[in-house]
Amino acid sequence: MIFLRILVKIGSVFQKEILLKIGEIYLKGKNRSIFESALFKSIKKVLNQDNQTNGFLNNNFCVKRVGSVFFVSGDNLEDLIPKIKKIFGISSFSLSLKVEKNIKNICEAALYVVSESKAKSFKIETKRIDKNFSLKSPEICNQVGEFVLEKTNISVDVHNPDIVVFTEIHNDYAYVVLRSYKGAGGLPKGTSGKGLVLMSGGIDSPVASFMMAKRGLSLTAVHFSTPPYTSLKSIEKVQRILEKLSHFCGSVRLYTVSLTQLQKNIKMNCPEELFTIISRRIMGKIASEIASKGGCSCLITGESLGQVASQTLPAMVCTSDEIGIPIFRPLIGMDKSEIIEIAKNIGTFEISIEPFDDCCSIFSPKYPKVNPKLKFVKIAESKIKNIEELIKDTLDNSEIKIIEP
Ligand code: ATP
Ligand code: MG
Repeated sequence: MIFLRILVKIGSVFQKEILLKIGEIYLKGKNRSIFESALFKSIKKVLNQDNQTNGFLNNNFCVKRVGSVFFVSGDNLEDLIPKIKKIFGISSFSLSLKVEKNIKNICEAALYVVSESKAKSFKIETKRIDKNFSLKSPEICNQVGEFVLEKTNISVDVHNPDIVVFTEIHNDYAYVVLRSYKGAGGLPKGTSGKGLVLMSGGIDSPVASFMMAKRGLSLTAVHFSTPPYTSLKSIEKVQRILEKLSHFCGSVRLYTVSLTQLQKNIKMNCPEELFTIISRRIMGKIASEIASKGGCSCLITGESLGQVASQTLPAMVCTSDEIGIPIFRPLIGMDKSEIIEIAKNIGTFEISIEPFDDCCSIFSPKYPKVNPKLKFVKIAESKIKNIEELIKDTLDNSEIKIIEP
């Protein structure tokens, strides 16, 4: 027991590092290094380190990459854990004790981990990346297990242990995992290109943005407002949502576009039941213009099949027409409850449910058409005079703001 207490005391003197493991990047073939470099870049960015020299960061963290593993060292590593959880491309990571590569040190580190955990049973597992290490994995497990058994009254249970102690023998050092965490998964930021998200401020579009950023898209956003019918507060709401998202996907350029003139024209010239569909078609056209200027190769929306009248299949046939670039709808097959669960996890839900008006709800028809026919929608839309000019004016008057994490 005295030995244990001494160990717990010296536990704080074990050097610690965070080991980051890649996820799906493993499946990549020849271009895997492109993904790993992008991940390295986003790790450094997220840990907030522009000014780095020789791998050392200005806030006392250092990120080193050896093969496919990234090692983060420095002070107060625990503070980095919430940040690392938001980096796409990392499947798991661990806060680990770093020791010189000899079995004595590995044993002591493992003993510290077991005693810290208050577990009643344990199991040792070993990953031997350095194939030249003198002991093989089963030998390491046996020797470490025996050492822990000898020094404690904790038993071994290989089938259902309270704690599994992972030891990893890397080329430079050995590591014993103190705590493991699930990473954000997905692909590193920007490795899939750039997408323009249509961000309403409701629950769905922030979740759609998150899901596409997770697949490696950098995001630009467009929000449509109808001043003075929608307030500045609804724009601020969108900005706050994007601020939350930016912790996952980096800074986002937000275009705010006023649809007031166009919507007044739709209201005056088109059948009421088609108001929302025609509004959405025009939003799509404006969004594709912004996308092409801003180098975005796809649009992203928070649509879910059948959720509302404008998201039935016939309605989506009408709203997808003439867009010219892919429209990604990652929520298309999801129930609202599933979407809400993600919104809560990523921290956008509480902002999304704040009650501010959306541009489409202002003039929205009492009985929207659920089964619109493209041919008739186009005829109705053609009644709006100078629509191309109106769209151009609207675009010219859009405002841009960069939302930073
Ligand atoms: P919710 O359904 O939770 O109210 P939502 O964001 O899904 O929010 P919908 O009315 O279902 O809103 O709109 C479907 C999609 O159309 C949105 O996910 C969004 O991509 C786009 N959209 C709707 N309104 C706007 C808007 N004012 N600005 C930008 N995009 C919008
Ligand atoms: Mg919706």
